Amino acid sequence: MFNNYKPVKIEFEDGSVIIAGAGPGSLKLITYKVLNALMVADVIIYDALVNKNVLKFCKTKAKLIFAGKLKNKRACTQNDINLWLVKYAKAGKKVLRLKGGDPSFFSRASQESEYLQNHKIKFKIFSGITASQEAMKKLNSSFFNNSNVCNLITGHRSINYPNVDINYKSICSNNGKIIIYMGISQIEKIIDKLIENGRRIDTKVSIICNASLKKEKIWESKLKDLNKLIKKEKIKSPAIIVVN
Ligand code: SAH
Repeated sequence: MFNNYKPVKIEFEDGSVIIAGAGPGSLKLITYKVLNALMVADVIIYDALVNKNVLKFCKTKAKLIFAGKLKNKRACTQNDINLWLVKYAKAGKKVLRLKGGDPSFFSRASQESEYLQNHKIKFKIFSGITASQEAMKKLNSSFFNNSNVCNLITGHRSINYPNVDINYKSICSNNGKIIIYMGISQIEKIIDKLIENGRRIDTKVSIICNASLKKEKIWESKLKDLNKLIKKEKIKSPAIIVVN
């Protein structure tokens, strides 16, 4: 696709880090800026949801470090990643921290940027297309009717963490769409929370799995049938769940 493509000059200083988003998966959805950063980076630390084919465009000598999960087990810790970012930047390398979607959406970019700031390493953030942007465009436009609010939440965090920081009561009362990232594994509990807090059991729900990729699939359901559907269809992450 990019065979004859020549990188344009972007400002990527030696000894600095760019934290960037590679978009939801399709190579066509990587931004121009991120592609150019990738083409000149010396070290690329990338997550599991980054399309590996994009790595073909990096320099032959670039060092590639996988920082995602393998069969539910992390290849490394967040601390390892922080240390690598600082180590390679201090060695004068151009370090690209490449994440799926957009780095500012549920991706720990804030922890990494804080760490870099504390270690006086220069960094920039390059946006990507977040998964829900791609997911929403596949849905019937009536999804956007009669609503001035949109809630983006992480499913797994809402249930797994003892100090739940998601106020389901407030989300359910504001009448906006609820767009759930990382919701599949906790869906039963999330449905209970939504119904307990006033969402109707026949609320329309859509699930978009592998948005933008060839294997993309979309399902429609009602809130009360959602868990059954996920089990029956064996729907797995990565998926965005949109509750109307
Ligand atoms: N920073 C990412 C989100 C990381 S959290 C972004 O902006 O998109 C990981 C979650 O994102 C997944 O569990 C899933 O809910 C969602 N996701 C990422 N890529 C996706 C894709 N191609 N299709 C559907 N959901 C996706």
